Amino acid sequence: MKTFRLFSFLAFVLCLLSAGAQQPTIALRGTIVTPDRVIDKGTVLISGDKIQAVGASISLPEHAIIIEGDNVISPGLIDLHNHLTWNFLPRWNAGRLFNTRYEWQAIPEYGLALSTPHSKIMDEGLSCQTEQYAEVKAIVGGATSVVGGFNSKCSDGLARNLDYYSGLYPPGTHEKLSYEIFPLELSEKTAAEITAGLDNHTLTSFIVHLSEGRPGDANAEREFRMFTARGFLRPGVSIIHGVGLNTADWQQAAKSGVGLIWSPRSNLSLYGRTTDVATAKQAAIKIALAPDWSPSGSDGMLQELKYASVWNDGQYPKVFTDTELVQMATSTPAQLAGLADKIGSIKPGYVADLLVIRRTEKDTYQSLLNASPSDIRLVLIGGNPVYGDDDLMRRLAPVADIEALTVCGSPKALDFSTETALGQHPTSWRQTVDQLNHALNEWGLSPVQLTPCPN
Ligand SMILES: [Zn+2]
Repeated sequence: MKTFRLFSFLAFVLCLLSAGAQQPTIALRGTIVTPDRVIDKGTVLISGDKIQAVGASISLPEHAIIIEGDNVISPGLIDLHNHLTWNFLPRWNAGRLFNTRYEWQAIPEYGLALSTPHSKIMDEGLSCQTEQYAEVKAIVGGATSVVGGFNSKCSDGLARNLDYYSGLYPPGTHEKLSYEIFPLELSEKTAAEITAGLDNHTLTSFIVHLSEGRPGDANAEREFRMFTARGFLRPGVSIIHGVGLNTADWQQAAKSGVGLIWSPRSNLSLYGRTTDVATAKQAAIKIALAPDWSPSGSDGMLQELKYASVWNDGQYPKVFTDTELVQMATSTPAQLAGLADKIGSIKPGYVADLLVIRRTEKDTYQSLLNASPSDIRLVLIGGNPVYGDDDLMRRLAPVADIEALTVCGSPKALDFSTETALGQHPTSWRQTVDQLNHALNEWGLSPVQLTPCPN
């Protein structure tokens, strides 16, 4: 009996040790962007899935793995607007500008380049692979949370899918963020359910694609009128795009506490102009930044940040400060998602969704705004090292679980092992890419690279 008890105790200790091995205690050292302030020579201590301590002088447990270097540590970037399953497709340049999204969706070139290959791949049963590809692409681009995936259980555990599987609520709890692309097609019943959800707090956030067309475009104006008539001008609701909205619209939206999700690169490449963010900001609307999708927007959040920063440099006066731009990719989207107490900031008790980059500029915020894909040293999601420099990942993640990949000439590694519970779906990143490649080759296409590299 005693032997049995000893054996049980040892098994329990081994179990604890192996659990510890999956979630290493990590101390990240460097310059911390919280993002509201900067802590020089700081440390972020991560224990389990949470941030345990943050500061310039904190005591570390003996078993902590310490990551040193000239690092900039920011919250993982939060992408509130994407169409993830399209991001294996190449960049699309229509060669002309449009008045509204309905125009480009109707032309044959769009069908040939994007919608037909997309439908074929989805019809061939590779929807989960497109989702997994896009989530890895998002992570390689600095994101830890995304919205706009395939909405199935095919990629639990990789990036946080805030609209259907965030992992931020107790098991069995419904997600509190709802996302709609076509608000005009919402039934009265669904609209009533959404407003009731916002009333009783089973929903904290409703984000809608709205008025994606130039000012004066009839469709964009009609969408805003219908949106208003349905009672969606209210706190908890955020407008995606709003390119067609005018000063009076933004003032009306601001009075109601509505937020904005801005995708400048995609807007400018399709319509030759973007949302009037200067007016929206002046009206005190909270503005988050997101790529939209990679065929006309950026390949990831860091790239969209860089694009927004360059756009901002061209405005006189500048619309945003560097701090505000970084907040628009971290703490502001967390607020718009109703998750400001869990993600988007580096504070004790928050989940450890973190991005570590190599400092390339003297100014800390500029380092984040100008980062290139190879500058990413590490991405942690819920304390798990998911992607980063090959040597760091070998120290932090189980070596058997990681796969090598090269990003802009730099050796990186990815832990795709959280996908293994999916049974019928690929169990490795390599298999996912091979399956997509095989299907696309039949169409004379191959998946685009995960991220473009600077020349
Ligand atoms: Zn969109």
